[in-house]
Amino acid sequence: NQGLAQVDPEIAAVLDGELARQRGTLEMIASENFVPRSVLQAQGSVLTNKYAEGYPGKRYYGGCEEVDIAENLAITRAKELFGAEYANVQPHAGAQANAAVLHALINAGDKIMGLNLAHGGHLTHGMKINFSGKLYQVAAYGVEEETSRLDMDKVREQALAERPNVLIAGWSAYPRHIDFEAFRSIADEVGAYLWTDMAHFAGLVAAGLHPSPVPHSDVVSSTVHKTIGGPRSGFILAKEQYGKKLNSAVFPGQQGGPLMHVIAAKAVAFKIAGSDEFKERQERVLRGAKIIAERLIQPDVTEAGVTVLTGGTDVHLVLVDLRKSPLDGQQAEDLLHEVGITVNRNAIPFDPRPPAVTSGLRIGTPALAARGFGDTEFTEVADIIAEALKAGQSADVEALRARVTKLADSFELYPELAQY
Ligand code: PLP
Repeated sequence: NQGLAQVDPEIAAVLDGELARQRGTLEMIASENFVPRSVLQAQGSVLTNKYAEGYPGKRYYGGCEEVDIAENLAITRAKELFGAEYANVQPHAGAQANAAVLHALINAGDKIMGLNLAHGGHLTHGMKINFSGKLYQVAAYGVEEETSRLDMDKVREQALAERPNVLIAGWSAYPRHIDFEAFRSIADEVGAYLWTDMAHFAGLVAAGLHPSPVPHSDVVSSTVHKTIGGPRSGFILAKEQYGKKLNSAVFPGQQGGPLMHVIAAKAVAFKIAGSDEFKERQERVLRGAKIIAERLIQPDVTEAGVTVLTGGTDVHLVLVDLRKSPLDGQQAEDLLHEVGITVNRNAIPFDPRPPAVTSGLRIGTPALAARGFGDTEFTEVADIIAEALKAGQSADVEALRARVTKLADSFELYPELAQY
């Protein structure tokens, strides 16, 4: 029973290398986070050995008495955290949760209508080569060119013309709150189900710092690994009346055996998300994003052709608009990578550049807030990003990298983890 370093030194080196990378850089990918040690422990546990097809109390395998407790805890905590009547915690990931939602609500050939992928929607909301675009007819609403925001009157007009069976609220890259009441009334007017995908902002909802889609939506799906900061996975909330169909759409509709080690880790994450400490962290997430947005709309930055979409943010991310900058999204991502800040390039609405290059950056604060960053550190991060994007290819990378290293070194990450 040898350890990883003995069995597979190459993979052990990858884990060591990744831990060093996470420690030594500033993680600002908006969909990422650092899970607490308790989540790592639950996920890296013997529960990975267990088959448990079915649901608690109704399994197709013996020996499920312990994992049933874990799944019931995850379900109860998810329902309590979000005030939902029903929860399914089995989806392996956000995409699987979304596939199950559509599978439960409608039939192949029916119509869905969500936010255009190029305007911040997600692949599973109707992208052409995703299952959602292949199985269903797709209509998409977009943001307004002038404001980069949704105009709910336009969404309504379009929904009336398209008559979708499912109206989708939610996004992967949109820096503002969305109006769930308006979505509800549009869905009612056109006779559609309202499905909200809160994958990105679920942690903010849990902390009471973002309007909740739960009271307004028929079904809500989410990931656990973004703002919630739990294991990489998904879950579904709904009104009780959809429970039976959703359960059957997840298993056996989409998946076989649930990942019980991940479900146990979800239970831990939901417990933590109900704490005061979690709320305080989400407050830092939001303040950090605002600090970054405010820095990037100062004249010294905008004069260099860099600005912030919608002029600010209500959430955990900032969308940087590089349309007037000499840097494209790829170059800006690479430049920040050299400086030690990890972000992703992101198409912005009406982007003149192709999706592989883009004219935007998506910058998020959840991971750094989990690391302990507050206003002072986010102000320094914002300034490092501003200086890099302003100077572009002539940025003093070494000096900026030194500022990043100083910040990274002052906030320990997983001090209890040694080398593999
Ligand atoms: N839904 C939204 C809105 C997302 O942003 C994402 C992830 O980027 C997903 C679903 C899919 O989650 P996963 O990557 O876990 O499949």
